[in-house]
Amino acid sequence: MSPPLELSSSAIGSTERRERPAFAFVAERLWLDFVNTDTGVRGADALHDFARFVLWLEAAHVLDAERSATMRRRAEQQPAGALAVLGDARRVRTVLRALAERGVFAGDVRLGALSEINRVLGRSAGTRRVELRPDGSFARAFVPVGDAFAGLLIPVVESAADALILDQLGRVRRCADPRCGRVFQDETKNGRRRWCDMATCGNRAKAARHRMKLHA
Ligand SMILES: [Zn+2]
Repeated sequence: MSPPLELSSSAIGSTERRERPAFAFVAERLWLDFVNTDTGVRGADALHDFARFVLWLEAAHVLDAERSATMRRRAEQQPAGALAVLGDARRVRTVLRALAERGVFAGDVRLGALSEINRVLGRSAGTRRVELRPDGSFARAFVPVGDAFAGLLIPVVESAADALILDQLGRVRRCADPRCGRVFQDETKNGRRRWCDMATCGNRAKAARHRMKLHA
């Protein structure tokens, strides 16, 4: 169950953002990191409110600081539009979670994701660019024209589209810790990555194995 949609008045438009949430990017793919924003296990949902969603997009390098400031201003001017985007983002996330967890063996799930991806891609116009980041690396970017809100999800669904096009669903895994809902792309050579993150779930499992050894 999703909490009711709300616009956070505290973060939107405020120049000093006191608590900048730490988002985890452990999935190796943008669309899977997006799916991981809803695990409900670790802290608050990145789609809890629009301001938080913009912070996540910024942390994911989908938006630069200037564009996310523009988004926050637009959200102040068009709160209903911002809420609609948030609702839409949640809908996309639900479909992409299904794709991550069952897409490899369920054809109907793949088709459902395909129509959702095309729905998002189909309604926004913009310009594709390659941008030089401050750290010297290069990244694809999409600069929407017209309804800027509509373009926010484009990089996420394009990342999911790549998984279909490049036939990568077979390497999407769910974290081996049953309490963890995170998914990730297994990029290891032997295809045996088990944990979303060695620092959290992997480490917990190691500690548990150690305790069992002590008590054996
Ligand atoms: Zn995990």
